[in-house]
Amino acid sequence: MSDCIFCKIIAGQIPSRKVYEDDDVLAFHDIHPFARVHFMIIPKKHIASLADAGPEDQAILGKILLLAPKLAQEQGLEGGFKTLVNTGRGGGQEVFHLHVHVFGGGPAA
Ligand code: 5GP
Ligand code: ZN
Repeated sequence: MSDCIFCKIIAGQIPSRKVYEDDDVLAFHDIHPFARVHFMIIPKKHIASLADAGPEDQAILGKILLLAPKLAQEQGLEGGFKTLVNTGRGGGQEVFHLHVHVFGGGPAA
């Protein structure tokens, strides 16, 4: 997906503040945070949205959700955090590469 911003971030063509990376997923801070801590976890595979995920994506979706509390704690959200997955234009999705927002810790500075 050559025109996908998040694929470009995965490829290192656009810089990001990384939180975590392995062979399957990347987590990085949102450029416009709406909380003191706000990062996103994305699959390295281009999946446009949750509505475009299929049974073959079950493992990666589970991996992303299981990573959320671990990374949230590492980022200082010991007391808890929120998750958000905007899906489709009607769901407020702006970047069409599946991402799970993880945020908390009060309003952004
Ligand atoms: P959506 O509305 O699609 O769920 O959220 C997309 C998010 O991606 C927004 O919160 C926006 O701030 C973030 N975003 C868009 N472009 C970039 C970028 O180039 N770098 C980073 N780090 N975040 C981005
Ligand atoms: Zn993509």
